[in-house]
Amino acid sequence: MSSNIKILKICEYCRKDFIAKKTTSKTCSDDCAKRLYKMKIRNEKINQATLQTEIIKQAKAFITVSDLQLIQAKDILTLKEAAILLNISPLTLRRWVFAGKIQSTKTGKKHQFNRASLQTL
Ligand SMILES: [Zn+2]
Repeated sequence: MSSNIKILKICEYCRKDFIAKKTTSKTCSDDCAKRLYKMKIRNEKINQATLQTEIIKQAKAFITVSDLQLIQAKDILTLKEAAILLNISPLTLRRWVFAGKIQSTKTGKKHQFNRASLQTL
């Protein structure tokens, strides 16, 4: 759709002011449009890679086999440990505590869970 409208816009790539003839124009020139497109693709790839690394990091930070053995040997568990044992997120466990679905004793601000009572779930 071409028309005679003129809109002052800022090029998304080079950040220069330009007169757009369409409301949908994002860049001042074809060159900038191509570069912007390439930049977006590249950023997407970078974001994807970063996300992937983050997921792996979190998985690693979350639990190891020896962690699990340690947790299974304990009678009193922290919220995080109890969540691991139940295979739910700490957030879900917190919700369960507030909902009265699960019993916890509080030491200061920290929840503690009796392993025996977790196993009845
Ligand atoms: Zn430009």
